[in-house]
Formats: sequence, structure tokens, C-alpha cells
Amino acid sequence: MNGLGERRNSLILICRMSLAVKTALLLLLTLLPAELLAQPFVLPSPNRAIYDPEGATKYFAPTPGRDWRSGTFGCVRSEGWQMHEGIDILPVSRDKKGEPTDQVWAAADGTVAYLNRKIALSNYGNYIILKHTIEGLEVYSLYAHLNSIRSDLKIGVPVKAREVIGVLGRTANTRQAITKDRAHLHFELNFLVNDRFSQWHKSYLPGQRNDHGDWNGQNLIAIDPLEVFKGQQKDGSRYSLLNYVRNQTELCRIMVRDTKFPWLARYIRLVRRNPIAEKNGIAGYEIALNYNGLPFQLIPRSELEIPGKARIQLLSVNAAEQAKHPCRKLVAKKGAQWELTATGQKLIELLVY
Ligand SMILES: [Zn+2]
Repeated sequence: MNGLGERRNSLILICRMSLAVKTALLLLLTLLPAELLAQPFVLPSPNRAIYDPEGATKYFAPTPGRDWRSGTFGCVRSEGWQMHEGIDILPVSRDKKGEPTDQVWAAADGTVAYLNRKIALSNYGNYIILKHTIEGLEVYSLYAHLNSIRSDLKIGVPVKAREVIGVLGRTANTRQAITKDRAHLHFELNFLVNDRFSQWHKSYLPGQRNDHGDWNGQNLIAIDPLEVFKGQQKDGSRYSLLNYVRNQTELCRIMVRDTKFPWLARYIRLVRRNPIAEKNGIAGYEIALNYNGLPFQLIPRSELEIPGKARIQLLSVNAAEQAKHPCRKLVAKKGAQWELTATGQKLIELLVY
């Protein structure tokens, strides 16, 4: 895959977009080398133990009776069968009553995408979502269980990296409250699946409540912040989030007979080139997903390259990766055959909705 081809492919997609301004901006992004746009994340709180070789126990807040690993990202809950979409960061300072007083900082320049100040509406309690554009990727950082949110923040307000956005806390609507000793910042780095989520939710899950609109957890796919912070520490200014995302380990590969869905425009830099489809017309996309369901590589396919007529097809599964990270249950084996589970199917339905 050479860069020029990718750009040509990007151009084909951009041509379909209606907003002239957006088109011009995207065009500019695809023509600039990724390195020029790299903007590293900063740690979201004063706790820096993540960078100490022995600091894990000082950085991650474990769940009751478990070790620090239960506060990391991945299949770390319920004996490995439940996904934790973020990292739980311990406070470093407390007041006389033992409540945490750590400031919470924006992890990168961005704007406020969403705020929830109604603790009763979420197991995340008070939380903030910030939108960032990094190397042409829309990335959303999330800060949960906050004691308080800075009072002047509202949707659309710009913030700078390391700007104070709230105070670390332990708010949540769960029956089991977060105890004082377990107070932590739940921090996520997310990709947005579909900005038509609310409509999708109405038609696919009728009667179910959707309190947070497009910011429903089902519409966000997280990556591991620890890997990003560690990668930045290792590579310094040469670190590329885009390369990190492009080089995810593949869980499975699917084919969709769909040529227009929001992910293509939002994450155009994850779309690869295919001269055959460019010449013969694109009939669908081959998509590689990581174990958490992140569509990290999309290849346009022409009609003659798509087997079968089904709208969504599972092409292949990396069994070793599924065995290593089984908790998202996106694929399962039925007899000798791998299949998309209902969860996997639902994710793809939402992706192409
Ligand atoms: Zn958490």
C-alpha cells in the first residue's frame, strides 16, 4: 500500500461527501504527512506512577479482592469474561475526610463533546467526553466518576491539553457505591461508531431507554490508553496514534455490502486502497476488527471480489486472538464453523447503519 494510492482512495471517498468545507479540511489532512499532525496525549491526572517500572499498584485502582490488573483495560473483569473499556487511575491527594482532591485534566487539545451531570443516569456518574482530532482521526477521551465537573464547561467549549476539567471522585449510579478507598478516575480513549446512533437505537432496540444519545457506550469503541501512553513514552515525538491503530491485532475480518457509512468518512485514514475496486466500482468493504470490535482497516471491494450475496459476512477469524481476549464475544464457533454472534452482528449493523 503506497501513500499516493491511499490518498487517491481517500479522494474517491471525499468526493461523495456533501459539505464543501469538510471536504477541503479532509483533503488537507490526507495530504499532510501524519507526523506533522501528531499530537500526543498527556496523563489526565497528577498520578504519574504509570511511568515507574514498579508503579502499577500506585496507578491502577483494583476491584475489591483483585489486584491492580483489574483496573487496566481489556478482559480483566469477571474472571476474564467482562470487558473493562478504560483504565482506573488512583488519586494522589486526599482531603481531611479522605476524599480525593486530584485535578482531572484534558488529555489533549479538543472540545467538549458531552457532559453528564446527572449522577443517577449513569454508572459513570458525573462524566465528560472530549473530542480530539489526532492525525486525522476523531478520538474521544472520557473521564468518569468525577466528584465535580468544572462549572463553565458545556458542549462545544474548547479545551487545551492539561486544562483542568473537573475533580477526581467516586460518583456512580450503581447499587454498590464506589467506596472512598476505591475512588478513581475511569479514563477511556474512544472511537465513535455512528452519529446516527439515536435513530438506530430507536429502530433496533424499540422501547429501550437511551439517556445519552450518541454517547451511549454501545456507540463508542475504546482502545487501551496504557498502550498509547507507553508507546508515546517509548517513541517520543515519533509516536503515531494512526500507526498504532492501523497495526492492531486482527480478531476477524468481515465483508459488508455497503459503500456509505459514517465510519468511512470519520476514519478515512483507516481505509486502504484497492485499484481493482477503484477501477470496477466499489460494491462493499472488507473490514478487519480487533478483539474489542474496532474496525481498524477497511478495504474497498468490487462486486467480483465479494463472495456470496449476504449483506454481512464473516470472512475469517484469528482463533488465537479470540482465545486470548474472549470477553467481547463478537465471534463464536458453531460446530467447525465460526459465526458472528448476536453481539458481533449488532455491532456491524450499527457500523453500517
Ligand atoms: Zn473503570
